[in-house]
Amino acid sequence: MSDLYCVFGNPIAHSKSPAIHAAFAAQTGENLRYEARLAAVDSFFAAISAFVAEGGCGANVTVPFKEQAYRRCDRLSDRAARAGAVNTLQFIDGAVHGDNTDGAGLVRDIRTNLGRALAGQRILLLGAGGASRGVIAPLLAEKPAALFIANRSPDKAQQLAAAFAELAAGVELSGGAFAQLAGQQFDVVINATAASLSGDSLPLPAGIFAPGSLAYDMMYGKGETPFLTLARTQGAAHCADGLGMLVEQAAEAFTLWRGKRPETAGVLASLRAALSAQG
Ligand code: NDP
Repeated sequence: MSDLYCVFGNPIAHSKSPAIHAAFAAQTGENLRYEARLAAVDSFFAAISAFVAEGGCGANVTVPFKEQAYRRCDRLSDRAARAGAVNTLQFIDGAVHGDNTDGAGLVRDIRTNLGRALAGQRILLLGAGGASRGVIAPLLAEKPAALFIANRSPDKAQQLAAAFAELAAGVELSGGAFAQLAGQQFDVVINATAASLSGDSLPLPAGIFAPGSLAYDMMYGKGETPFLTLARTQGAAHCADGLGMLVEQAAEAFTLWRGKRPETAGVLASLRAALSAQG
């Protein structure tokens, strides 16, 4: 019998995680099955219990369940506890263990796949929701010069900056409104808002992209996202979407579950080719 894993979400039909984990399993010779499971919004805990009863060994968790997953865990990794959200579950001896691999996935994509060091950089993080919260500690660990969190509701950005202040030794960490960005420049601008999902453009003041800057949208799709279009027209030198982050957070989860780190470049290239073919 192969070991059973899944990704829970709602909606979930278009998830790329089953294909990613099937590729990792084939590459590493691990005997596992990985399925997409639709959970009802009001019965996520019951879906976890049923999956454990079925023999499930672990699961990924995506929108809208990451915060519910955090609340369900019996044990949390430090990074999941800090993020207040869980995207990776492991079922061990009747206990639910939770981790959050999103931040590690983002940093690995930027550093390894895009070849961009974050040390000493001025980083702008747009958004103050679950995705943003999950990446702040791993970004701070890279020792940037500054991390500014900007959000439509500025109080949430300020609260996040305050919540992570103890990890920010040597980093200028602050939060506020989009309007406060006027007159500032950043080397790396990361969009962790859901604005691209609804096709909305962000009210970013002109001139925030420093020469040579990287614009990174956590969202991905077959075409350019509205944020990356804006970034390109405002002078960002490099643009990247979140497909690499998706693959890298999956690799981190797979490593946790199976004790083997899969190679990601080939998997990312295949997914990219499949997305382009759709366009
Ligand atoms: P949340 O719902 O937790 O947070 C949404 C954030 O977006 C909030 O800061 C919200 O601001 C802001 N926002 C929403 N709509 C708009 C808008 N029209 N204009 C400006 N700001 C807006 O979502 P998540 O944090 O979980 O996810 C954010 C994005 O990151 C999604 O696109 C998701 O797909 C992507 N993601 C990608 C991953 C990957 O592996 N590539 C992993 C995780 C997430 P406010 O507080 O004012 O409401």
